[in-house]
Amino acid sequence: MSANAMEETVYGGGVRWILSAEEREHLGELLDVEESTFDHIKGNVMNRSRIACKKCGKHSGLDDMVYGAMELGIHSKAFMVDTLVNGPSGASPAHTVACSRCDEQFEGVLSWDVTVWRA
Ligand SMILES: [Zn+2]
Repeated sequence: MSANAMEETVYGGGVRWILSAEEREHLGELLDVEESTFDHIKGNVMNRSRIACKKCGKHSGLDDMVYGAMELGIHSKAFMVDTLVNGPSGASPAHTVACSRCDEQFEGVLSWDVTVWRA
């Protein structure tokens, strides 16, 4: 898949990471729900383009953010499913994210703006 099909620039700033079938499936596995739970989600709007993992080449995605939150134990699965389905209740401070495939940290920081999550 080309980089262009993976994301698109959003009017007003931000980059939508278009949710891939692979990410949908991975989210379902991580959160113990049917992947169809996320069918209506076109993608999440972030502050920057996806980052390629310097170790395994995976591109950063929603699955990595969910994976990281689960590793830290900061959110329940139910909370994260609700957040993904309905959108986050607040903007995120910029933070680092690790690759869910190999645990390598992506270079740079990521954040999102709540108002454009599903715009
Ligand atoms: Zn990786």
